[in-house]
Amino acid sequence: MAALCGPSPRPSTRLDLLAIDRTLSEDDLAIRGATRQLMDDAVRPYVADWYEAGELPARELARKCGETGLLGMHLEGYGCAGTSTVAYGLACIELEAADSGIRSLVSVQGSLAMFPIWRYGSEEQKQKYLPGMAAGEIVGCFGLTEPDAGSDPGSMRTRARRDGDGFVLDGGKMWITNGTVADIAVVWAKLATDRATEDADGGADEQIRGFIVPTSAPGFTAREVKHKLSLRASATAELTFDSVRLGPEAILPDAKGLKAPLSCLTQARTGILFGALGAARDCLEVALDYVGTRTVFGSPLGAYQLTQAKLADMTTSYTAAYLMALHIGRTADEGAATPTMVSMGKLNSTRTAIEIARTCRTLLGANGISGEYPVLRHANNLESVLTYEGTAEVHQLVLGRALTGLNAFG
Ligand SMILES: Cc1cc2nc3c(=O)[nH]c(=O)nc-3n(C[C@H](O)[C@H](O)[C@H](O)COP(=O)(O)OP(=O)(O)OC[C@H]3O[C@@H](n4cnc5c(N)ncnc54)[C@H](O)[C@@H]3O)c2cc1C
Repeated sequence: MAALCGPSPRPSTRLDLLAIDRTLSEDDLAIRGATRQLMDDAVRPYVADWYEAGELPARELARKCGETGLLGMHLEGYGCAGTSTVAYGLACIELEAADSGIRSLVSVQGSLAMFPIWRYGSEEQKQKYLPGMAAGEIVGCFGLTEPDAGSDPGSMRTRARRDGDGFVLDGGKMWITNGTVADIAVVWAKLATDRATEDADGGADEQIRGFIVPTSAPGFTAREVKHKLSLRASATAELTFDSVRLGPEAILPDAKGLKAPLSCLTQARTGILFGALGAARDCLEVALDYVGTRTVFGSPLGAYQLTQAKLADMTTSYTAAYLMALHIGRTADEGAATPTMVSMGKLNSTRTAIEIARTCRTLLGANGISGEYPVLRHANNLESVLTYEGTAEVHQLVLGRALTGLNAFG
């Protein structure tokens, strides 16, 4: 299929009015540059076609991302690059400037599939999976959301029960990124507590536990979610578990309770609060070029005050969001970031980015709705980014609880 459009314009210093790049380290800049190069070579020329076709060559891209060191890059050991959080965030910006689908592939692999194994897995599990996942040879997905349990994952229905020294898994998950291409799924399910050996939360009868499920296991089915109007260049699946038998080696020994999957989400959200700004930046770059060449009423569109007001406001809100992201990333690198900080960053970056994408679309007029420009693709993608990893409303409730001390969730 012929590519609909060539590479987007190169990110330039024209948006960096506060000279923020000055504050980035040589390592940060090198990782950013390598990721940008990979996107220019392997994604940008093709992604508009993938988006239109509703597909992504996920396994091939996973291998390329693995070669570049992007998978689980912020984790230490087991073949992972061990970079700073800021470097991870800058890479996410470059990935999402190409498309949120490729950033989602990398976020899910590194933060949602590799992180739980790295953080809660046994040494055998880490040795078995992490090097292959870092290389992109083994692809993972993360199954938490269910058809009737999204913002409230504690109400999940998927159950594991003990069977000899192993387990049997029944239930299903919905909206699972990488689900149809994955080799393993990290699945969260409720398991009856064994009070004699486990420290269940508050003596509860059941506890959420994590399982590494081979997608080749009998009873495991992954069905593609079709008709998406957002994140089309991304594999999204419905997973079904019909008496899936798992050995004792499948359970993540140290993941006990809802706080375990939530800690994975905090990791992924940290990448997203940077990444969403990549989509915004790409829209701004395209819009800046467009208003310089499009003539209306005898002058370049960029010469009109209304246009400049839009550009000034968008660049200011983009810059403020970028500074917030860098602050959160640097705080995380000092070991002092909290989930509340990450909630504020995710809320702010995604809302800022979607507003920028929509406003840039207006600047492109009718061309703004065409797949020959990336702007509406980014805006549509950001609808998913606004929803997954905690909706905007859920993050507002997190911040409201932090401010008032009152829980307004339920
Ligand atoms: C493209 C895509 C990829 C995804 N990938 C994954 C994945 O890989 N793994 C995974 O596990 N999940 C994934 N998800 C699922 C995603 O995390 C959920 O969609 C999200 O958590 C919201 O859940 P929900 O869709 O069930 O909405 P609901 O929870 O039903 O929310 C509906 C609306 O109610 C609002 N709401 C919820 N609670 C409250 C409240 N207390 N007060 C006021 N308003 C409230 C929400 O903000 C939202 O506006 C993905 C989703 C998408 C779209």
